[in-house]
This record gives sequence, C-alpha cells and structure tokens, in this order.
Amino acid sequence: MKTDVQVVVVGGGIVGVSVLYWLAKMGWTDSVLLERRELTSGSTWHAAGNTTYFGPYPEMTQLFAGSIRTYLQAEEESGQSIGFHQTGSLRLAATKRELELFDVYKPRYAEMGIPFSIRSNEEIAELHPLIDTSHTYGAAHTPTDGHVDPNGTTYALALAAQKLGASIETKCPVTAIAPDNHGWLLETDKGSVKAEHIVVASSFWAREMLEPLGINVPIYATEHHEIITDRIDEIATLDHELPAMRDSYVSCSVRQEQDGLLLGVYEKDPVFWALDGIPKDFKEELFPPNLERLMPHLERLMERMPAFADAGMKGANNGPMCWTPDGLPMLGPLTAHKGLWLATGFNVGIGTGGGSAEFLAHWMTQGGPLFDLKSVHADRFGNDMTADQAIAAIRAVYARGYQLPDAI
Ligand SMILES: Cc1cc2nc3c(=O)[nH]c(=O)nc-3n(C[C@H](O)[C@H](O)[C@H](O)COP(=O)(O)OP(=O)(O)OC[C@H]3O[C@@H](n4cnc5c(N)ncnc54)[C@H](O)[C@@H]3O)c2cc1C
Repeated sequence: MKTDVQVVVVGGGIVGVSVLYWLAKMGWTDSVLLERRELTSGSTWHAAGNTTYFGPYPEMTQLFAGSIRTYLQAEEESGQSIGFHQTGSLRLAATKRELELFDVYKPRYAEMGIPFSIRSNEEIAELHPLIDTSHTYGAAHTPTDGHVDPNGTTYALALAAQKLGASIETKCPVTAIAPDNHGWLLETDKGSVKAEHIVVASSFWAREMLEPLGINVPIYATEHHEIITDRIDEIATLDHELPAMRDSYVSCSVRQEQDGLLLGVYEKDPVFWALDGIPKDFKEELFPPNLERLMPHLERLMERMPAFADAGMKGANNGPMCWTPDGLPMLGPLTAHKGLWLATGFNVGIGTGGGSAEFLAHWMTQGGPLFDLKSVHADRFGNDMTADQAIAAIRAVYARGYQLPDAI
C-alpha cells in the first residue's frame, strides 16, 4: 500500500472512485483510495442508477450531464460495461404551473446543448403508453438521459483510474485523520498514510469522521425505498424501452426494469436512520421494507399508471440515503483546513457523482472549480448548525420530493 502520497480519497462509492478517476485524468496519479470494505459497499451497490437531465438549476444539470459523459468515457477506457440505458425521461406536469415552469427552463437547455422538449398528453401516451394522461398537463422530455448500472460504473471508473496509475486499497478502514507537518496523517487498519490532500468521500460516515477535528458536517441518512414489480404484459410486448417517469403528484420516479417497473418513493414523512452515529457493525445491509408507509404514494401511482395496480411485487429495497440540509452535495475545500476537501452528502450520487468529481478535481489541480456553483460549496453551512436544525431542514427537503421551486 502507498504510504506517502499527494492525495488520499476516503471512500470507494461512486463518488470517491469518480474523484480518484478525474484526479488521475488531470495528472494527479500519486494517489490512493482507501475503502473500509469493498468498492460500492455504502449506498452505491443498491441504487437504481437513475440519472436525469431535468432540473430547475442549469448548473446542477451540468453535473448530471458531466456524469454520464464521465461514465461513458471510463467505459471506453476500461472495457468494463456501465450498462447505460438511454431511455430518456418524462417529467410530468401535474399542474398548469409546472408546465409554465418547463417553458422557463427550456431556453437554458438550448444554451447547454442538451435536448429538451415539452410534450403534449398525446405525445406522452405515444412515448409511454402506461401513463394515464387524463390529469396531466404535458411533460418535459429529456431524451438523452436514462440509467446506468452503479456497480459496473464504479468498477469502470476504478479500472480506468488504476490504468492511469492511481491505487485502490480495499478492506482498509480509516480510523483517524489528523494534521501533521507534511499535511495530513491518516490511521488505517493497515498502517499510517501521509498525504498532502485528503478528499473525504465517505457519505454519511463523514460527520463522525471529521467531528474529532472540530468540523461540523451536517449530514444524516434517511431510509429510502425502491420497489421492483414482476413482469407486466403491456411492457413485455412493447417495441421500445419506456422512458423514466417523474411526477410530483405521486412523489415518485418510475422506470422500466426488464419487463417490469422499478420505482423510488419520496415519502412526506421521511424516516431517519442512525441519528446518533452509524453503527460500528453496519456493513452494507438493507433495512426491512415498510410498505405501509409508501401506500399513499403507491395508490396515487395506481391512478397515474393503472397497469401498476395489477402488477405483482418482485422485491423492495430499503437502504440508507445521505442528505444535507438543502439536498445538494458538499463539494470543495474546507478553507480553514488546508488540503482537506469534501465530496460528500450525495443523495443522487449516481446521477451527479461523475460530473461532481470533474468539478472538484479541476478545483484541486487547477486552483479553481470547473464553473461557478456556489450552491454546492463544502463550507456553506458554517460550523454552527445544530443537529436539530439540520434534521428539520433535511425532513423538509426530502418531503418536497419532485416539487419544483415556485420562483421562475
Ligand atoms: C434505494 C435507493 C435507491 C437509490 N437510487 C438512486 C438513483 O437511482 N440515482 C442516484 O443518483 N442515486 C440513487 N440513490 C442514492 C445513491 O445510492 C447515493 O447518492 C450514492 O451511492 C452515494 O455515493 P457515495 O460514493 O457518496 O457514497 P457511498 O456509496 O455510500 O460510498 C461511501 C463509501 O465510504 C466508505 N467508508 C465509510 N467510512 C469509511 C472509512 N472510515 N474508511 C474507508 N472507507 C469508508 C464506505 O464503505 C462506502 O463504500 C439511491 C439510494 C437508495 C437508498
């Protein structure tokens, strides 16, 4: 194992591995990624892999678009498939107001060079025959996004980074981080590592990891469910893969998974996990599903997509999801601690991990971020936010689900 490096990345989920990859692409190959268990052992292994270009904030859309670009590049360089399904996505307008907002967003997509169009109910029915459009006002259509296989993608990034000279050490938990006269000293189960820079990409573990340094990272984990249905005949007989659907009325995303559906639900009253600290014996297991909680959303989905009402359930995954108080990741330097960088707090880390890593690696290697995106800066919450304040803010942001901000 390398013991004296320019940069250590802590955490081998899709975000940490993407950072290792982009640093290597930009010439920083004197690096090692330290992972507690195996790559993807946190939230990455059980994610649905959805990534959409739709969103109210163009800079965030750039992170999404940069992610698909990054993953495809890593696939090419490594030979490892990322399992990209370019299904496109429909963001339904559940209200007239949402349709008006889509009109406002449209020119921004033209500026970014990302295909975006507004579809009528008739067009929705052609693209996605399972949607009942009697209560929709149209949809925003982003035809070039879709979903990837999170595990394949993480390994493609890892292989491509290693080809460039970066190292990865698994089964190597970091047990302490402290400044020393060279920069930083990390203690691990396999010995000490000196580094000029550290990137903390350890998701919901980051809060406790940095607490001993007097750094308050206000991130907490919620439970998050995805449900997979059995085969649905209407899907099995289609001649194209369905676009993903997102809907503020149901507060749910739905995409095709083989001949069935895979849905992810944002409940109005999220359930937090491990508020007092991540259990020391937590590995990568899932929580018992609680479908009762999801019922109000599932009932709405039956209205929106009647075929779902008759579908059997193949499985339900309830896993931990990392949240910051405003729902955006924490990216960049902690300016009071030279050489310490964050890439944590991701709740859509598959969708934004690759692009965020490019953004951060540019900052680290070139002295400034790839573009101006203050809303993700790592020290934006200050150091004084209490746990109660953070949890209340996360509760509100999770419950918003797919609701759009009112301001045009
Ligand atoms: C059910 C479900 C479905 C989801 N679906 C999607 C989706 O469709 N699209 C999407 O974009 N997102 C989705 N997500 C969210 C997504 O899984 C996360 O945003 C993403 O995986 C976060 O990646 P990460 O690298 O930040 O964190 P993680 O994958 O959690 O990685 C953090 C890593 O840090 C390691 N680590 C922790 N402590 C230490 C230590 N002391 N030393 C060394 N290593 C350490 C962990 O072992 C872990 O491997 C979903 C989440 C859930 C729960």
